[in-house]
Amino acid sequence: MPGLLEGQVVVVTGASRGIGRAIAIGMSTEGARLALTARDEQTLASTLGEIARLVPDAEVLTAACDVADESSVARMGAAVLGRFGRVDTVVANAGVAGPTRSLQEISLVEWRDCLATDLDGVFLTFRRFVPALVEQRSGSLIAISSMTGKRPLPGRTPYAAAKTGVIGLVRSLAVELGPAGVRVNAVCPGAVDGPRIDSVIREQARQRGIGEDEARAAFTDPSPLGRLVTAEEIADTCVFLAGPGSSSITGEDLNASAGVVMY
Ligand code: NAP
Repeated sequence: MPGLLEGQVVVVTGASRGIGRAIAIGMSTEGARLALTARDEQTLASTLGEIARLVPDAEVLTAACDVADESSVARMGAAVLGRFGRVDTVVANAGVAGPTRSLQEISLVEWRDCLATDLDGVFLTFRRFVPALVEQRSGSLIAISSMTGKRPLPGRTPYAAAKTGVIGLVRSLAVELGPAGVRVNAVCPGAVDGPRIDSVIREQARQRGIGEDEARAAFTDPSPLGRLVTAEEIADTCVFLAGPGSSSITGEDLNASAGVVMY
């Protein structure tokens, strides 16, 4: 049976680990041809290895790309369009956590570094591919925001500002591109089980002078399902937004948070 994304060309930024790696694997098992990026192309080896294991004939391009750097994104876009001649779905996933500190302890450099990747990076990545999508008169742009773009998390002001900004970008761009048949959506993951959230929990525990179990419970207790989410669940949401089943969905910020956020 053909996959949901058979023949699609899908770009995934930040595909070397975590959510981006899971998205790349999820898209490839649904038949997509892939362009995978990270700042250091070598770090994509683990993602490539898993895709080769699951889909031996998968077509995959890798490219080094710093999403905060306009010329780097321009080169990556040229490589993708040069290789495949088209693009169908772009997942702007690359992101950094930024500092976990009270606002007055955050430097302007740290603030800007976080927004440069988490907000400028989405702008630059989408902007590079919009002309091709508009010309094709089809496509799906997906930005990985966060539940923290909707729900306050103390000590995380730069990250929250960037992730809320992504939602605004997505809504306005959905209106701009709707007439061209291009859909634009955000996914708002809850805390994803894995090393990244472990370090956030450790830092929250240190900041608040509490144990790590208590800090972890602050993430799981608000969930009606009583748990974190998995990277594979975020990948499934992205596959849905790339595929035909979501053809009426644009301008949305879709929560995948085990129910922590319901708005
Ligand atoms: P991660 O494990 O730290 O992976 C981040 C990926 O982005 C890596 O591939 C990294 O590769 C890449 N990256 C970072 N800065 C980059 C830059 N300037 N240019 C290009 N690539 C860059 O992160 P994750 O937890 O999977 O998070 C992925 C996305 O989901 C982020 O946008 C994050 O904010 C969002 N999110 C995560 C969670 C969570 O709990 N993990 C929850 C909600 C939302 P290199 O460092 O090699 O470039």
